[in-house]
Formats: sequence, C-alpha cells, structure tokens
Amino acid sequence: MSGCGCNTNSGAGAGGPFSKGKELVEFVYNAHDGGVRDQPISAGAIELNCHGCDTLFTMATYVSSCPHCGGVHAVAPMNPSAENVQFAGKDFTLP
Ligand SMILES: [Zn+2]
Repeated sequence: MSGCGCNTNSGAGAGGPFSKGKELVEFVYNAHDGGVRDQPISAGAIELNCHGCDTLFTMATYVSSCPHCGGVHAVAPMNPSAENVQFAGKDFTLP
C-alpha cells in the first residue's frame, strides 16, 4: 500500500485512500498514527446529510461523527469533497 499519497506507510493493511465505507474510515482514522483525523479539512468544512440518519451536519475534520446518530464519516485528505465522504456503517463506533 502506498499510504495516503504523501509517501508514508501508515495505515497499511487498513485499506487506502480509495477504499470505501468502513475501510476508508479506518484508514483515515489511523493515518499518520492518528494525526490526521482531528485536522480541519484543508478545503474547508463539508456539509452533508448523514449517511445513516439523513441529518444535515458539518464535517469540520477528516473524521467526524453525526451529532444525531453518532454515525462515523470520513473523507480522504487528498480528495476532500462531499461525494467522497464515506460512512462506516451504523454498527461502527470509534475505538
Ligand atoms: Zn446520523
């Protein structure tokens, strides 16, 4: 795996930046030993409807939870747009 495109190998074995769903969420969550997930999204916060409960909320960081249902969403730092947000699934909770 080539990591997130910035030449490090963190997240190996947990998918990659082009993974879908839970794999992508876990990839971003673990990227750079967890140094990415709480970073503000470089292109600006993303507004989206929760993929779990359809509540409109704003993702300000690369890994964000829906304020209503707690559904975990993530977007790859290299391509942060609403279409690329992935949802980990209703049963997923962050460690
Ligand atoms: Zn929700």
